[in-house]
Amino acid sequence: DLAVTQTPWALGRLRLRHRIVVGSMHTGLETRDDGGLALAQFYRERVDGGAHLVITGGLAVNDEGRGGADYAVLGDPSSDERFGVAVAAVHEAGGSISAQLFHAGRYALTDGLVDAAGEPAQSVAPSAVPWRGARGAVPIALDEPGILRTIADFGAAARRAEEIGFDAVEIMASEGYLVNQFCSPITNLRDDAWGGDALRRQRFAVAVVEAVRGAVSPGFPVSIRISGDDLMPGSSTPDEVDALALALLDAGIDGLSVGVGWHESRVPTVQGAVPHGVWVPLASRLADVVRGSAHPTVAVIASNRFTDLRDAEDVLARGVIDAVAMARPFLADPEIVAKSTAGRFDLVTTCIGCNQACIDRSIFGKEVSCLVNPRAGRELDFPLVRSRIAVRVAVVGAGPAGLAAALDLARRGNDVTVFEASPRLGGQFDLAASIPGKEDYAGPVQSWQAMLSSLGAAIVTGRRVSAADLVDYDHVVVATGVRPRELDVPGIDLPHVLSYERALREGVPAGTVALIGAGGIGVDTAGYLVESGHESARAMSFVTANDLPRSSAFLSSRPQRRDASRPHPVRRGSQVSIVSRSGKFGSGLGPTSRWVAVGRLRDAGVNFVEKVSYRRIRPGVLEVVAESGDVLEVPADTVIVCAGQESVEVLSAVLSAQGTPFTVIGGAWDARAVDAVRATSEGLEASRAV
Ligand code: SF4
Repeated sequence: DLAVTQTPWALGRLRLRHRIVVGSMHTGLETRDDGGLALAQFYRERVDGGAHLVITGGLAVNDEGRGGADYAVLGDPSSDERFGVAVAAVHEAGGSISAQLFHAGRYALTDGLVDAAGEPAQSVAPSAVPWRGARGAVPIALDEPGILRTIADFGAAARRAEEIGFDAVEIMASEGYLVNQFCSPITNLRDDAWGGDALRRQRFAVAVVEAVRGAVSPGFPVSIRISGDDLMPGSSTPDEVDALALALLDAGIDGLSVGVGWHESRVPTVQGAVPHGVWVPLASRLADVVRGSAHPTVAVIASNRFTDLRDAEDVLARGVIDAVAMARPFLADPEIVAKSTAGRFDLVTTCIGCNQACIDRSIFGKEVSCLVNPRAGRELDFPLVRSRIAVRVAVVGAGPAGLAAALDLARRGNDVTVFEASPRLGGQFDLAASIPGKEDYAGPVQSWQAMLSSLGAAIVTGRRVSAADLVDYDHVVVATGVRPRELDVPGIDLPHVLSYERALREGVPAGTVALIGAGGIGVDTAGYLVESGHESARAMSFVTANDLPRSSAFLSSRPQRRDASRPHPVRRGSQVSIVSRSGKFGSGLGPTSRWVAVGRLRDAGVNFVEKVSYRRIRPGVLEVVAESGDVLEVPADTVIVCAGQESVEVLSAVLSAQGTPFTVIGGAWDARAVDAVRATSEGLEASRAV
């Protein structure tokens, strides 16, 4: 029941049909040289899928405010033309679109950029305070004329947005970007009219709102996204944030969107391990400020760690928040609103918070997509049209690669049968769902299964097929995945040595554990061992660390709950050692997830053993040899081998011999660097090649 979600609301004069907003996402399509067509199609599919208000990714208000080379600048003729096309597409589909006015400040990645004079570009900021992501670059502290020019640029960009046809603008003043930098005492070290105390630090934000308000026509909706908490030691206090909100209300905003955290914050905010809805109290607190102000009808928008509209409904039903912005869930499923409002939650592919195809790509200037929806950002390249000739296809293996292929084939009208040897679908996703912080991986498997069934595809589980079973198919997609790689170490056959797969599927007996291999799987498996086995402990640690009300950690009764039927490790309290030959831990994990997963192991007291070679395994001990030549004994009542994978692929030779056309994808094709983003993308591409 999404009764409240489906009620209309208003952002200033803009009337909106429901309370779910497509939050700002940088896609990388903003600068694609295609006349704006890819971006237009990206937005159009979200509006066709039930979205009403879309907020663009950050559109820089001037050159030096670009987050990187793939950021568009409002006022640049080719950008404006592209956005005109995107705006028209949204309007045609019945939606509304707000331009996010953006200035990265010291977060600008200037590598390869030049300024107006053709010199290498340098970032600007309130003060010359660098950050580690800038690779040694120190921003230039803006002087008074520079500050006034930047404020004017915000105004000019807002006017340009209105001229292009946008329905609203959102000023980005959160997540540690320029406006936020002016507000914070850790990045604003000035002692002039623009810094020195909280009142002077908020002056830039207020001046930007006033400039924007003065540049657009009367009544044009203006919202601002501020940081409910910077999650940075020594940054603005809650009282200062509340005072900023009051000042912005007086300056004439129509909406207040509440973000959280900076890119350099050491508190994770958007990773899968972060409990759903945990940041709602920040938006609730600011909503109380708004309601108690002279501008009580200004809309308050909550965001971050929403993946399910039922969670949004729970929050909206409390009557304090006006709308909920979700960004990545619209990458994962453009139809999330239409499916949810139709009550078909089972068909929604939820975002798993992996960041692998979105944020992890965007920070390297690559176009964004989605692990669980490989069409995201590539809608034009892979249009959803029926296959010219429907064919009979067998997909062998129901991991992410196989399921992605099967789904695209079935959606385009082909006759699809999925064969899975094990009783459960999901392959590596099914394993991943055992890992704390990755419980959500079970969600897409369930929705893909439901969608395949609703499209009439056959799913056969618990059956290992041979090439002879596949002789009647027009095409076979071989997605038989991987198995744990075996190691050649003396003692590997002892009964207390388990593969990571067996450990995750069957649990681990009490006692000390040594993990051989410290890539993504090793770190994840160690995380599985050191968690309590009940997600509330993890949720509560965030809540306590961030001084949030306890109730916020339990927003959802659905995702992030470990499946009770899955085994838990029972070795609580005994030492876990993770052993690496290289000294790199979590190298298979993405940059936005690795530090969270590795940090959790350090917090839990895991013993990191690095730069050693494996000598032998004997009962209770893993012997390793250090670079010095010393032999070390790592306590190990159980040894878990996490030393990579190898392909499971026995079909192609026989299919070839019997003349059945086939494609091999995912881990079955290449197990050396198993990558779920590559796997689902190959699934989509295989479908289109049939
Ligand atoms: Fe969500 Fe991962 Fe897709 Fe990003 S890549 S939208 S985090 S599922």
